[in-house]
Amino acid sequence: MNMSRQVAVIGGGAAGMMAAIQTAGAGAAVTIYEKNDRVGKKILSTGNGRCNFSNEAMGKEFYHGSGKALADEILSAFDVARTKDFFSSLGMRIKARDGYLYPASDQASTVLDLLRYELDRRHVTVHTEEAVRSLSFDEGRKQFLIGRRGKEAFYDAVILCCGGKAAPNTGSDGSGFRLAERFGHRIVRPVPALAALVCKEPFYKQVAGVRCDAELTLQVAGKEAARERGELQLTDYGLSGIPAFQLCRTAAYALLDKKPVMAQVSFLPDFDKASCDSFFRERISSHGEDGMDMFLTGIVNKKINRLLLKLAGIRETERVKDVSPAAFARLKGLYLGLETTVMGTNDFDRAQVCAGGVDCSEVTEYLMSKKRPGLYFAGEILDIDGLCGGYNLQWAWSSGAVAGRAAASDIM
Ligand SMILES: Cc1cc2nc3c(=O)[nH]c(=O)nc-3n(C[C@H](O)[C@H](O)[C@H](O)COP(=O)(O)OP(=O)(O)OC[C@H]3O[C@@H](n4cnc5c(N)ncnc54)[C@H](O)[C@@H]3O)c2cc1C
Repeated sequence: MNMSRQVAVIGGGAAGMMAAIQTAGAGAAVTIYEKNDRVGKKILSTGNGRCNFSNEAMGKEFYHGSGKALADEILSAFDVARTKDFFSSLGMRIKARDGYLYPASDQASTVLDLLRYELDRRHVTVHTEEAVRSLSFDEGRKQFLIGRRGKEAFYDAVILCCGGKAAPNTGSDGSGFRLAERFGHRIVRPVPALAALVCKEPFYKQVAGVRCDAELTLQVAGKEAARERGELQLTDYGLSGIPAFQLCRTAAYALLDKKPVMAQVSFLPDFDKASCDSFFRERISSHGEDGMDMFLTGIVNKKINRLLLKLAGIRETERVKDVSPAAFARLKGLYLGLETTVMGTNDFDRAQVCAGGVDCSEVTEYLMSKKRPGLYFAGEILDIDGLCGGYNLQWAWSSGAVAGRAAASDIM
């Protein structure tokens, strides 16, 4: 036990609370600085208020950023099983839905309350409404100096857990990047990840509100860059829902580099060209005398049917047998790949996660800065972002635990 070692955690989000609990558990005296009036505000909005805190399917393939290999090590060092044990030991019953893990209460507040009780139990000092703007290393004392409201406080180690820039109403405003830069760290360009795609075409107004199973293929400068299937949500400005969210960071980086970004939407994701041809052939032979509105009823959502018909240049009242093969070919092409131009993504205010951050090649396997020993990082401040499905919180827990334990014992 090392009660004399003083450790500061800057940022009391998921990563910061986990880091503080682990550091205190290893015997150090820990102080959290949190700019909000309470810790863990973002946790309350996760998983639509239910907190999808992890996922049984885990691996580096679920993560992006400069630290994929590092993420693998950290996620193994404090893995899903240990995360479940940790929360169970605090008193949380856990439930899984298709591998997605939630508190059995279905309340994100359960996760936050248990973390807060544990901070108390481990005598972690929590300073709220304390935004840290100044962090330096005092060469004389060989300690870190945090300047706050005219007071000075010195620490043997500091863990930066300020998050990125996503959802700044929960506190993560990018100020952690500026603190890291003062120690010479490179910040990989931050962009919104897990946010909706804003598209150019005016037709979205006609289908806003529709949810459907679809496959999205993202093309950057004419080449396929990524593909996702799931429940798509059409909005009046473009594409939302999980498949759009998963493609967001790829689109955002391409647009930042001024590359053209297109998406193709397949509304018949189980069909390829051949099976779509035969599906239409059979339908045409049985509906020859019917109007096109009747022909399409039952294929997908009515608003989508109408939109695609219009884009194919076919009238709803036209009889099936009067529609030309060329018009049917256009219609089939639209069902299998409606093309849309991606102009942007929703901004950080409406993003769930921030891609980019502290370059992971500049930290050790214990998440300590290679530029300033004793300075550690955990959570979204690092250039690692996960897919939708509990991966970002798992990264916060795993990285917080690894950095917290290392900071307590000064593992390099
Ligand atoms: C709406 C929404 C839903 C989400 N749902 C899920 C989900 O279901 N599953 C999942 O895995 N992930 C989800 N996420 C993502 C997940 O919440 C984050 O990846 C995770 O919380 C990041 O944790 P963090 O501790 O690194 O950063 P944050 O949670 O952003 O915490 C950073 C903390 O640092 C504080 N801070 C910042 N700068 C300073 C400073 N200078 N001084 C003092 N304090 C500072 C902030 O106030 C904040 O409390 C969701 C995110 C959002 C916005």
